[in-house]
Amino acid sequence: MTDSVDLAPIRDAVRALCADFPGEYWRALDRERAYPDKFVAALTKAGFLAALIPEEFGGSGLTMTAAAAIMEEIQASGCNGAACHAQMYTMGTLLRHGSPDQKARYLPAIARGELRLQAFGVTEPTSGTDTLALRTTAVRDGDAYVINGQKIWTSRAEHSDLMLLLARTTPREQAEKRTAGLTVFLVDMRAVQGLTVRPIRTMMNHATTEVFFENMRVPAEAVIGREGEGFRYILSGMNAERILIAAECIGDAKWFIGKAAAYAGERVVFGRPIGQNQGVQFPIARAYIGMRAAELMVREAATLYETGNDCGAEANMAKQLAAEASWAAADMCVQTHGGFGFAEEFDIERKFRETRLYTVAPISTNLVLSYIAEHVLGLPRSY
Ligand SMILES: Cc1cc2nc3c(=O)[nH]c(=O)nc-3n(C[C@H](O)[C@H](O)[C@H](O)COP(=O)(O)OP(=O)(O)OC[C@H]3O[C@@H](n4cnc5c(N)ncnc54)[C@H](O)[C@@H]3O)c2cc1C
Repeated sequence: MTDSVDLAPIRDAVRALCADFPGEYWRALDRERAYPDKFVAALTKAGFLAALIPEEFGGSGLTMTAAAAIMEEIQASGCNGAACHAQMYTMGTLLRHGSPDQKARYLPAIARGELRLQAFGVTEPTSGTDTLALRTTAVRDGDAYVINGQKIWTSRAEHSDLMLLLARTTPREQAEKRTAGLTVFLVDMRAVQGLTVRPIRTMMNHATTEVFFENMRVPAEAVIGREGEGFRYILSGMNAERILIAAECIGDAKWFIGKAAAYAGERVVFGRPIGQNQGVQFPIARAYIGMRAAELMVREAATLYETGNDCGAEANMAKQLAAEASWAAADMCVQTHGGFGFAEEFDIERKFRETRLYTVAPISTNLVLSYIAEHVLGLPRSY
């Protein structure tokens, strides 16, 4: 599919960078569950992770469509943008709701790659998707807040300087409305005490962690926007997250489809290429159709986003369709490769594990469906 604006130079540049990080690089890291430092450094140096930071703050000031193209190409090249995708979108909360001082202090340093804002602390073990039930508290004490509680699945916390953290500042029963009483903090993890980060080993190499706060003091100026308004600020950043992760899924699907089509054309069994059999062709064609349909929704969501329109429904649908398309393509790719689909050196099993995440995170299928049912179709709220 051609882009409506010419993104070819950006796509070519991402592909060229990714060519230096072939399958062997990712396989070696995967075995050790090690972080792709060199890859992330290269993306940062090239300015790709600062794509959405406006030029006035030293970023490239690109559109959401261009940012999505960057993430898509990373995945379509066989690399894994999950190691750093949050650097691209987490800063949006700071950009939209931070004070002029906060923006001037952090955004240029993030754009230059001197500060890493990769950690996003929302999910907790007991509340799960029910964000308003989170239990981490921040209590004002003079010119500081004292934070106690726990987060889970705080990805890349070990590879970040800053963490965007959501905590409760007003007890739930005292909050003036259901969605009030949560506050966003930009925590400088290098400067605090009482913070413990523990890695969680997962089915793929994702550098995710659980994080504990024990009387962790953060200065009052770490608050982003107004106290108690944090839930709204976090929600406002989620459309960008969904669109970019949807674009990653499109890239994954393209990678799986390309691999499968190539293999089906060259693997000869019973005296002919397996791809000559409709039983092998059709699943590849079906995966392609699913990917293309999802790609259209990702583009629509990105266009709505960058033109300042409401894109909640489209961002959710894009994430859902793209995550389903990449997972269907992953399954098809394994099947097309037969036994070799399970061999590490083909990278398929690694990408298969990596792309599985996206029907669960950053938001799970059922929650997308209930959003559409309630907010688009007007059905009664189910939870
Ligand atoms: C590898 C990884 C990285 C992550 N990175 C981050 C991160 O950096 N920062 C962060 O804050 N979070 C992160 N997450 C958390 C992620 O966003 C959540 O796992 C995801 O939103 C699902 O929440 P949960 O795991 O608490 O599931 P739960 O909320 O416990 O839900 C479990 C299942 O029940 C379903 N369910 C729950 N309630 C309902 C309902 N009312 N109706 C129908 N079905 C329902 C859900 O759809 C889901 O399938 C990450 C997760 C993973 C696995």
